[in-house]
Amino acid sequence: MSVKVDDIRSISLEKLNKFVDKNNFPLYRSNQIFNWINKSSVKSFDDMTNLPKSLIDLLKENFRLNFSQISSKQISIDSTMKFAIKLHDKLVVESVLIPSGDRVTACVSSQVGCSLDCEFCATSKLLRMRNLESYEIFDQIILLNEQSIENYSLPISNIVFMGMGEPLLNYNNVINSINLITGKEGIEISNKKITLSTSGISKMIHKMADDNVKFNLAISLHSAIESTRNEIMPFSKSFPLNQLIKSLEYWYEKTKRKVTFEYLIWKGINDDFEHINALVKICKRVPSKVNLIEYNSIDDPRFSKADELWVNKYLNILKENKVSASIRRSRGKDIQAACGQLANKH
Ligand code: SAH
Repeated sequence: MSVKVDDIRSISLEKLNKFVDKNNFPLYRSNQIFNWINKSSVKSFDDMTNLPKSLIDLLKENFRLNFSQISSKQISIDSTMKFAIKLHDKLVVESVLIPSGDRVTACVSSQVGCSLDCEFCATSKLLRMRNLESYEIFDQIILLNEQSIENYSLPISNIVFMGMGEPLLNYNNVINSINLITGKEGIEISNKKITLSTSGISKMIHKMADDNVKFNLAISLHSAIESTRNEIMPFSKSFPLNQLIKSLEYWYEKTKRKVTFEYLIWKGINDDFEHINALVKICKRVPSKVNLIEYNSIDDPRFSKADELWVNKYLNILKENKVSASIRRSRGKDIQAACGQLANKH
């Protein structure tokens, strides 16, 4: 029995040429197959309508085409939609569509589960099962784009890597997926409309800057004081704040693009002037803007949303210091589709 490769979409044209040749088909067939597998529309071998049946059967015997499938869909009262996406090995990730005026933002996952331990995030309670392949991230976008057009009559306008997982711990596949999404087989979206969010893996931020990537960067900061950050995001003990800030300065130096700091404010954790001042200090070092995100409860008594008063203090003091800041209200809370709520509960 022949050993099946994982997915035909992960093999090169060269290998495809060899396969076609070995099986006595003319070489142009290989180009045809390559075109099909690099087109978003092809979800099964039977869709490759210009190939002879004998070649389709041979492909089915030797390869898989693991196009992911939507296994469930939930719709929020605010029109946000959450999708459970089933992968070829039956594992499931979640993706979200967030409509707003004439824009639709797709929030995609980069890993099944997450290996980080942010105490306030529901996804961190899931084990990290595996990284997503680049074509699996790409499939999420293709499926979400179809859903967006069907449900909102608009294609996806923005993409955020803010679903399950830590994108910078699956760097190569994430970068390849962005190349597919923005490439000619993708959905005609520019890098400028894509944002990668990281909990702050400093050495990978360095690498991204060196690789000259063109998309936007967001950092889940939540505290600019090391001891607090280490408590609420214990993994960050391996990524000291100072190294993180240095990597962001380097990012700006190389890309000239501001970073966005994502920031949650909790009662008794960071609702005080010491934390506000520390944030202001970092924002003065790193050209940036701040998104104050509304905390979505995950039923952990240690965490509760700070009073509105403190949110306004953050907002005002940041503005007084000429740091651009805004409040990001949650969407899709009623269906557990909001930030930090993705935990495969359908
Ligand atoms: N691992 C990456 C990608 C996930 S993005 C990262 O951390 O950036 C998900 C965003 O939601 C992060 O900014 C995260 O800190 C935030 N988040 C996590 N739990 C949350 C919660 N309960 N309420 C609101 N935001 C939360």
